[in-house]
Order: sequence, then C-alpha cells, then structure tokens
Amino acid sequence: MLQTAISKPLLQKAAADLQNDLPFSVYKPLIQKGRDLSRRGFVYNVIVIDSERIKGKVADVTIHDVTLDLADVIGHHDCPCETEGPCSHVLALFFYVYGNVLDNGELLRQWKQAEKKPPQTVSPAPKTPTVAPAESVDEWWEQFAKALDEFAARHRRRDDWPYRLAHQLFPALVKGGPKHHAARGLYRFHAALFLFHHLIEYGKERGWHQRLFGSYGQFSWQQDVEYIADELFETLERFSSNPSASAPDPLIKQTVPYVRD
Ligand SMILES: [Zn+2]
Repeated sequence: MLQTAISKPLLQKAAADLQNDLPFSVYKPLIQKGRDLSRRGFVYNVIVIDSERIKGKVADVTIHDVTLDLADVIGHHDCPCETEGPCSHVLALFFYVYGNVLDNGELLRQWKQAEKKPPQTVSPAPKTPTVAPAESVDEWWEQFAKALDEFAARHRRRDDWPYRLAHQLFPALVKGGPKHHAARGLYRFHAALFLFHHLIEYGKERGWHQRLFGSYGQFSWQQDVEYIADELFETLERFSSNPSASAPDPLIKQTVPYVRD
C-alpha cells in the first residue's frame, strides 16, 4: 500500500522541491498535464522500490516507464521522453503517489499561491501575526483542566476512564479553541499533550507503565495512550510540512516549557 510504504514528510518535502523548482506560472501546462494524466487513470503499475524510489507506467501516446526518487525528485528521475528537468510523466507519477497519501487539490492550491506571496525582502514589517490572539497557552491549559474536572465529576469512577479521556474528552476539547486558523493546530497539540500527561499519570498510579503484561484495563490504557500520542505526532507533522500555517511566535514560545515537562 502506498499509504503505508511512503512517509508523508518525505512526500511533502518532494512536493516543496517541485514547487521551488517549477514555479506555477512558468510550468503551468506541464504541471496540469501531469495532474491530468494521473487523474484520468493513465498512471498504472506503480511500485514502491524502497521507501524513497518509485516506478510506474505513464500512458501518453506511448507508454513511458518512469522512475523517481522522492528524496531528490529534481535530480533523480528517469523518463524515456528525456525532457530536461521533471517532465509531465514524472509529475504524473508524482501526483499519483501524492494523491494516494495526501490531497492533490490542496497541493495545487499551495503551488499556485506560493507565487502570489511577495518576496520577503519587500515586506519585512508585518512579520507579526495578522490576528493577535488574545489568549495564551496558560489559559488553554486552565480551560483544559476545567473541562477535565467537569468531565471527571461525571465519568471518573468508571473503568473506561482512559478511553473516555482519549475518545470523548479529546474531541470535545478540540472542538473549542481559537478562531485564528494558525493557532488552532497548536491548540490541538496542547489538548493532546494535556491528555497524554493525564493518561500517563493515571497509568503510573496503577504501576501500568512498568509491567509488560497485565489486566485488560492496562492493555486498554496502552491503546488510549497510543491514540493520543499519534494525535500529537500527526499534529506535529502538519506543522513541519506547512510553515506558513504555523502559530504566532508568542504561542510557540509559551509552548516550549510545556513540551519540556
Ligand atoms: Zn517524460
């Protein structure tokens, strides 16, 4: 399966390389042809050679045997059409793979928009966030603690408390949060971190973090810890792949001690 064989960060790095190398306004026909070939089903027999290299066939008048290397998609690709630089067939294979794991529509939007941003040297001033959030990470954690108290009053005595933390309280916390789009991802990260902390404490009180085998409760708790840990890492991955969506600086700075803890 492409989804499991290929790492998202690698794919996102390759996408960023392509965006840098092929500005949309200049290479628009090439990019769109690649996308169309992929979308209309002209890419097939796609094989993941190893975690980075992929090969596949692209039908365009004749059949092209294409390979590409996600770690260096600009420098390492091969297509019989011998176009200088990535050709539409290489792009078709790339879109095929990318679309199986992530969202091609979103990628194209980014690709188009990347050029509309003025060069940074022209406008150094508005580096501060456009919407200054009137809130802080401390306030978020106070809200989480309050929500946890209320939730605990109703559910804490139950055996499935860890499950409820991960699968009921977490979605409830995430639903709230700042309106500022860029801060929302960070808010989600903190909500997951907050619950991760509580789940670990809960397990420690029972000695579950030390023993290898134990009760159903322990097993179930491990699953819930993993669920929240996955949420944490997924949120992190989204940050690293999309710097433009990162949260305002003050919130990032306030995050540091929490992560250290
Ligand atoms: Zn080609």
